[in-house]
Amino acid sequence: MRKWGKFIILLMAIILSACGKPEAKYIFFFIGDGMGSVQVNAAERYLASLEDRNGIVPLAMNLAPATGYITTYSQSNYITDSGAAITAMATGNKTSNQTLSMDAEHRYPYKTIAETAKERGMKIGIISTVDIDHATPAGYYAHQPKRSNYYEIGIQLANSNFDFFGGGGFRNITDPKGIDSINVIDLAKQNDYLYINNATAFKYLESGAGKVLFVHPDVSDDYAMPYSIDMDDGSITLSQITEKAIDMLDNPDGFFMMVEGGKIDWACHGNDAATTIHDVLAFDEAIKVALKFYSKHKNNTLIIITADHECGGMTMGTSYGDSNMDLSKLQWQSGSFTELTREYHEIRTGLINELGEDTVKTDPSWALNFILEQTGLGDESKGLAINDYEKEELLIAYVKSFDEKNYKDHTEYIMYGSYDAFMITASHMLSRKVGIGWTTFSHTAVPIPIRAFGVGAEKFTGYYDNTEVYSRLLGIMAK
Ligand SMILES: [Zn+2]
Repeated sequence: MRKWGKFIILLMAIILSACGKPEAKYIFFFIGDGMGSVQVNAAERYLASLEDRNGIVPLAMNLAPATGYITTYSQSNYITDSGAAITAMATGNKTSNQTLSMDAEHRYPYKTIAETAKERGMKIGIISTVDIDHATPAGYYAHQPKRSNYYEIGIQLANSNFDFFGGGGFRNITDPKGIDSINVIDLAKQNDYLYINNATAFKYLESGAGKVLFVHPDVSDDYAMPYSIDMDDGSITLSQITEKAIDMLDNPDGFFMMVEGGKIDWACHGNDAATTIHDVLAFDEAIKVALKFYSKHKNNTLIIITADHECGGMTMGTSYGDSNMDLSKLQWQSGSFTELTREYHEIRTGLINELGEDTVKTDPSWALNFILEQTGLGDESKGLAINDYEKEELLIAYVKSFDEKNYKDHTEYIMYGSYDAFMITASHMLSRKVGIGWTTFSHTAVPIPIRAFGVGAEKFTGYYDNTEVYSRLLGIMAK
């Protein structure tokens, strides 16, 4: 019997060594920018609230078999920015805020995981809902002392030789200093990128097309894709881009694909709960596309889902909200507060031209009506009645909003940040009525979840630093 036991152990050892270490050949790295655990849980609670029941509807990302928590502080600050956070996860090194895949003193570049994957023969895809030269996507292909060097970042994209770029556009396709005459898009074309900027060409894009640079046809604020809540039917979604990227990148040598839900962060900067939730849901749809691919390539696919940092200090439970957390009341919001504010200013400008500023300033009824129609705020039948104190709060903000550049006073900045005073007050009021609180217009330092599906997923459990995400991933990436 003991003889047989030894024999079986020996046989197992031979089989294991023949198989080698499990390796990830198809790697998806999903980053929900600004997405802490509350942003995800709020989306789950929202879905259950729509069904009028307690509890949650779990998102696909939260069904991951392996979960952990990572710390996010940068070399220079306890609260990181996206530049330092992406440098940590893409290169394994801490750096200073605002720096992109270089050391904190800006003396040398750090090689990124995507560059290593490319050297190993894998194809590379970089996808984001925000401008493709923004910190998170740029951290994989650019090395810059300042994340705001958009033109230089664009040039590095065009020279990266990565296989697929998709999502938002560029902030500076020409050199704002006027020194360099090369246009980023022209350089990409010279370097054999197929540049695509319309829905039809995107639809008919097929594998074998070579290197692709796809800029979403509907880019708006800062060259980003529209928020999910603002998207027209038929507008190309993050999940469709992910699906297309899989078609383009699938090959026997594997791929590394980074997919960013970048505007979750922007919605959280603006303390806009409904917009945050819709972008988290759109991000989860993109993860489902990767999970479909994984179901057919279980032995060599790895999907990681994390964030670079939390944003907004979003929490659940406020002094004003009821403990039921009925987030379904957010369903009445017709668009992002970014779009609503644009509309609000348009209407106000029209009224001022017609009636004069002094008259408009003393009559806020149109503004109260605007937020009632666009968000339901003030509608008793929707459970969103406003009391006298809240009305007063809105009226003070309404007058302030005529003077919006003047938030130097510390108290005012805490209340309105850099946003329109009236619209941010309405957004905050809506949030707190449904039980969502915000502590800041910026990032926070709370540790953030990391989840993994597939080969080597178990390596991502535990509580560790964001720099270790890189080393753990490098350890299982196909050689
Ligand atoms: Zn941010």
